[in-house]
Amino acid sequence: MADNAVMCPDSNFAAKPASAASLLQASPISVVKIGSSLLVAKDGQLRRPWMERLAERLDELPGAVVLVSSGAIAMGRGAIGLDRRPRSLAEAQAAAAVGQIHLAGAWAEAWARQQRSAAQVLLTLGDLEQRPRYLNARATLEMLIERGVVPVVNENDTVATEEIRFGDNDRLAARVAQLIGAQLLVLLSDVDGLYTADPATDPNARRIPTVDALTPEIEALAGSTGSGGLGTGGMRSKLAAARIATDAGANVVLSSGLAEDPIGILLNDGPATVFRAGAKPLAARKRWLRGLQDPRGELRLDAGALLAIKGGASLLAVGVREVSGNFQRGDLVRLIGPDGLCGQGLCAYQSEEARRIAGLSSERIAEVLSEAGRGPMVHRDDLVLFF
Ligand code: GLU
Repeated sequence: MADNAVMCPDSNFAAKPASAASLLQASPISVVKIGSSLLVAKDGQLRRPWMERLAERLDELPGAVVLVSSGAIAMGRGAIGLDRRPRSLAEAQAAAAVGQIHLAGAWAEAWARQQRSAAQVLLTLGDLEQRPRYLNARATLEMLIERGVVPVVNENDTVATEEIRFGDNDRLAARVAQLIGAQLLVLLSDVDGLYTADPATDPNARRIPTVDALTPEIEALAGSTGSGGLGTGGMRSKLAAARIATDAGANVVLSSGLAEDPIGILLNDGPATVFRAGAKPLAARKRWLRGLQDPRGELRLDAGALLAIKGGASLLAVGVREVSGNFQRGDLVRLIGPDGLCGQGLCAYQSEEARRIAGLSSERIAEVLSEAGRGPMVHRDDLVLFF
C-alpha cells in the first residue's frame, strides 16, 4: 500500500493530509457513488464501456468496493414513454422499475469481465433507521464483501415514497459508508470538486483541494457549483453527504466522472476535493454507541466474557449468564460484568431468543433456534465498554 494514512492512529491521522490517490490505495473499504449523468448517455443508453473501465480500475484497488449506482430512473424513462424527467412520483417509480433491471444487469456484466460477481442491494431510508433492518442490511453487505462480491446499491425507488426517501444517492452513499464503517466515500459526478465560486461564470473560481471542516463558509459555497445533469443531487446534497460521511469517520473525495477513466485520473492525482474525516470510523461509531440512552434490557456476563470483550472480541452467547428485559433485535442493552455495569451494546437477538441461547456454544445455537445463528450476541463493532 502506498500510504497508510487511513489506518494510522488518530493523532498522526489528523496531521497527515491524504491525497485522493493515497486514500484509494489505503482504504480497506471504499464506497463509490456514481451519478446518473455518468451512466446514461443522452440517448438513454447505458455507457457500458465506461462502466467496464470503472470496474476494471476498482478491481485493481487493494481494498473492497461498494458501488452506489444511480441511473435507474434516467435509464427507464424511455421505456415508459417519457422524453423528459418524470414529473410525478408514480412516473419516477415506474421508470426506476424498468431502469433498475438493466442497470443491475449491466453492472453484473461489467464485473463479470473481472471475474467478480455483483449483487443488487436496494435500500429505503427505513432500512437504515430501524435497528433490526439496519443490522440485516449491514450483515448482508458484510457477507457480500467478505465473499468478494461487489454490492451495487441503489435506493429502492419503486417503493420509496416522499416521506421515506433518502432524497438522493449522495446521501444514500454516505449512509452506506456509515453503515459498513467504510474509510472512503468517492462521489463521482459531473463536477471535479468544490469551487470558491461558480467556475462556469467566474474566471477567478478556484477548486478547493482539501476541506478540513465543513464550516458555514464552506456550506455557503454549495450554491456556487450546481449539477444540471440527469440525477437529483447538486452541490448541496454533496456537502450533506460529506457531512454524514466525515462525521462517521470516512474521508470523502468529490471528483468528476466525465472522463473515460476517472479512477485512473484520481490515482494520478487528478483534480478533486478531499473532505477529511472527523475521526476513524470505529471511533465515531463507539462515540455514538456510548451516547445511546434508554437500554431495553441487561446481559449478565461471566468473567471470561468480560475479559474477551476487553480484548476487543465480540460478546458470544456462551459468556452470557442471564438476560433480563424485553427487547427487539438491535435494541440497546446494558452489559453487567461480575463487578457491575461495564458497557452497553446492540443485541443481535431479541430477548426471548437471547434467553434461550444464553450460555450456549455457537454450535448449539443453531439447534435451539432451528436456524443458523446470527453470530455473536453483541458484535464487537456494536459494543462499547465504559472504562
Ligand atoms: N435512485 C435514483 C435512480 O436510480 C437516483 C437518485 C440520485 O441520483 O440521487 O435513478
